[in-house]
Amino acid sequence: MKAAIIDKFKEKLEIKNVPVPEVGAKDVLVKIHACGVCHTDLHACHGDWPVKPKLPLIPGHEGVGEIVKLGSEIRYLEVGDRVGIPWLFSACGHCDYCLDGKETLCLEQQNAGYSVDGSYAEYCVANGEYVVKIPDEVSYVEAAPLFCAGVTTYKALKVAKVKPGQWVAIFGAGGLGHLAIQYAVAMGMKVIAVDTGAEKMALARELGATHCIDFKQDNPSEKIQSVAGGVHGVVCTAVSKVAFEDSYKALRRGGTLVLVGLPPEEMPIPIFDTVLNGVEVVGSIVGTRKDLKECLQFAADGKVKANIQVKPLEQINEIFDEMLKGEINGRIVMEMADKD
Ligand code: NAD
Ligand code: ZN
Ligand code: ZN
Repeated sequence: MKAAIIDKFKEKLEIKNVPVPEVGAKDVLVKIHACGVCHTDLHACHGDWPVKPKLPLIPGHEGVGEIVKLGSEIRYLEVGDRVGIPWLFSACGHCDYCLDGKETLCLEQQNAGYSVDGSYAEYCVANGEYVVKIPDEVSYVEAAPLFCAGVTTYKALKVAKVKPGQWVAIFGAGGLGHLAIQYAVAMGMKVIAVDTGAEKMALARELGATHCIDFKQDNPSEKIQSVAGGVHGVVCTAVSKVAFEDSYKALRRGGTLVLVGLPPEEMPIPIFDTVLNGVEVVGSIVGTRKDLKECLQFAADGKVKANIQVKPLEQINEIFDEMLKGEINGRIVMEMADKD
């Protein structure tokens, strides 16, 4: 099968021909139709984070396709089922976190396109317990970005605890952020978006943000304090330390800052202000299978739709270049050429 593979951090990915992976008893083989390109894949290929991915690696954790083979122990899925393979490739299923509905915190989890090979390929093997079915109303290309960008921002908004009618600010209106705006609107929140460039501002407005702040032209936190008296919640998806500092300053008293973006730097948090203002700063990592199921239903109901550009797998290096420059408006989804 054809796959995009990274051998060494910061080098280009190469399209190679590799064997279709073996299917274990609890696995399914998925013929990949489409896979979104997440900024996390770029961090993985650059070795940006303290925990490194395996190498060589087939990245990709927004892969969607049809099941073509079932492991001998799979009972609840069928050949032909339309599924996606999320970042949470598998978890142990029996630790305190797994039992408590917090499977994304499981210490024994595997991550697609990071600790195991992902979906930048014509086929991907997946753990049958952790694939999630795609509703009929949602096409493969539309579903792909929801398997990370969608579920992550939907979950982060839950973590932010912003109620209908209250203010939320979305810092970074890229792949994750442009979906965050839509989920927030669908959940009844009033949305302020922060990013840069006329195109991203226009998209954010079209998707329902009532205020769009270009961080290169305005000071986002000052503007947010003046518009809304500070927001009840912020979801920060930007790959920028400055954006996290701005996000913190954009909160109103009692507000919640949800950290989602993963720039490799640290963020200093002022103890005095945090205590006196009673604010919360909390990390949020992807979402559970239940969150994913819910987030897909928003798309099936026509409330959320990613802004997508479709490109072939062969263009992955150019896609990464565009992403580094912040030039992508929405999400790029790679369609696999062989679709018979
Ligand atoms: P992206 O490149 O599509 O979007 C990032 C956006 O941030 C861009 O539009 C960029 O212009 C904007 N930005 C840069 N500096 C900014 C600033 N100072 N203020 C406001 N916006 C700014 O990336 P993405 O795929 O949306 O991923 C974003 C980050 O989220 C990455 O670090 C990724 O690894 C991380 N991520 C985290 C989770 C999680 O579970 N926590 C899941 C997926 C991705
Ligand atoms: Zn991702
Ligand atoms: Zn576990």
